[in-house]
Amino acid sequence: MKQIQIDLTPEEYASEAAVRCAVARALGSRPGDLEPFRITRRSIDCRRRNVLYHCTIEINDGLGAGDVKFPGASAVMQPCSSFFAPHSSRTVVIVGAGPAGLFAALKALQLGMKPVVVERGKPVEERKKDIVNLVRTKEVNPDSNWCFGEGGAGTYSDGKLYTRSTKRGDVGEVLRLFVEHGADPDIMVDVHAHIGTDRLPAIIARMRESIIKGGGEYHFNTRITDLIVKDGRVRGVVTADGAGIEGDAVVLATGHSARDIYELFARRGWRLEAKPFALGVRVEHPQELINEIQYHGKGYSKLLPPATYSLVTQVGGHGVFSFCMCPGGVIVPAATAGGQQVVNGMSNAARNSGFANSGIAVTVSPEDVGGEGWHALLDFQKAVEQRMFEAAGGCIDAPSQRLVDFLQRRTSSRLNRSNYMGRCVSAPLHEILPDFVVDCLIGGFKDFDRRMHGFITEDASLLAVESRTSSPVRIPRDKETLQHPQLQGLYPCGEGAGYAGGIVSSALDGMRCVERISVSAVEKNS
Ligand SMILES: Cc1cc2nc3c(=O)[nH]c(=O)nc-3n(C[C@H](O)[C@H](O)[C@H](O)COP(=O)(O)OP(=O)(O)OC[C@H]3O[C@@H](n4cnc5c(N)ncnc54)[C@H](O)[C@@H]3O)c2cc1C
Repeated sequence: MKQIQIDLTPEEYASEAAVRCAVARALGSRPGDLEPFRITRRSIDCRRRNVLYHCTIEINDGLGAGDVKFPGASAVMQPCSSFFAPHSSRTVVIVGAGPAGLFAALKALQLGMKPVVVERGKPVEERKKDIVNLVRTKEVNPDSNWCFGEGGAGTYSDGKLYTRSTKRGDVGEVLRLFVEHGADPDIMVDVHAHIGTDRLPAIIARMRESIIKGGGEYHFNTRITDLIVKDGRVRGVVTADGAGIEGDAVVLATGHSARDIYELFARRGWRLEAKPFALGVRVEHPQELINEIQYHGKGYSKLLPPATYSLVTQVGGHGVFSFCMCPGGVIVPAATAGGQQVVNGMSNAARNSGFANSGIAVTVSPEDVGGEGWHALLDFQKAVEQRMFEAAGGCIDAPSQRLVDFLQRRTSSRLNRSNYMGRCVSAPLHEILPDFVVDCLIGGFKDFDRRMHGFITEDASLLAVESRTSSPVRIPRDKETLQHPQLQGLYPCGEGAGYAGGIVSSALDGMRCVERISVSAVEKNS
């Protein structure tokens, strides 16, 4: 087996004959003499005027001629999981069925332990109805919404599967598990892999089937309100109806919106820490405009996927960056309780809504908000979300402003068309957002426009508030044992505990916590 890297123009990439010629050229052979090959990695590079596909090609004489695959090649699947491993007598209670919790449960089964998943929300099938209801009635069910319920914030997310946290574990294993549960195998090939909101619920439901088939257990509609602690060791969880669920270890993967969990820790005197996070707005453009900027005005709309961007700059000592960019996407109301207004973005697999949206966020540290203690940033986040709710007239309509008006610090007298799942209302975001956030966003947008000429346009809108980018609180854990310093047997995990950001890194953290539980069990027994 041999690997080569080649660059292909979009026109070449779209033609089987041209790909064959390019591979033959790179190998110094004739197209007719080529061994079977497939594309195993691909990304689009639009930094220069000539847009290129960077491809890794695997030439493999172990493949039959019928296995030749290009373009859009699928990955070679090597099953990585066995969900029928014999059980040890150990039970791991996993609180939260988001990516961290689900991958923790799958890993527990691989390692022969029984996962008991405790989730405040409903199975995906029922959760969908609450989301439809949320959009229709503007009433937020605090246990079943865009963040809470089976699959967590990852279910109705965009399903972009890239991460910078390659050192935290085997990203390939996460991707393979997604594919084994129904994701398109091309996610193993694309550097910027994407599943899509329309495909995720079925994948999450299949993961549940695997977990149950392997001997795991689920408790839906079960919010945990306390931990069972005996002699400084966590023995299980207490649920809202006062019942107890016991286990040998507890993985706490409740996500960054479970404010009741932080309050529980504060009430019980268990340690929490403030953690820098980011807050800003969601910017929305016509997708065609982003395509034109990124693909240098070339009419690539049929040959290339809807264009993305990733921008980062520094303004006044703050990072300003694009976050969760959704080409062909939709903006959604992501509040988890009444009295809050929060936006986020997602897209279907086809990414064909005609709108591009992205979070544009400003880093916020405890010093910026002048408060002290673990809750300083949480209080700040809550206050901005509440102000946005009030600006929308006491509901989850989205306070909006045209980008050009925001830069001029004037209220928009008219709004652009938007793909927000709800109504947009004109609001002076430059007055409602904290001053330092406004200054940083203005500086950031100007810099982004220098790099993506046309980013600032009459057609761009801002919707608020993008405040759930990451957790403003950390639940501390020991670097080695991964357990809370005061609570043996408790593994704070995933985004809500402050150890991950995004689907893949949360999944990796879930698996890592369970691997650590397994190692502790071996150490204890030896
Ligand atoms: C609209 C949207 C789009 C997104 N798009 C992307 C994307 O494209 N790519 C990406 O990488 N990330 C994306 N994200 C972020 C990603 O979804 C999160 O980073 C990820 O889901 C965090 O995983 P987690 O398991 O740590 O927490 P969560 O997914 O938040 O899961 C926590 C779970 O715990 C449950 N829970 C909370 N409190 C309790 C309790 N007291 N008792 C029992 N259960 C409880 C919740 O119901 C929830 O199911 C998106 C998020 C949203 C909202």
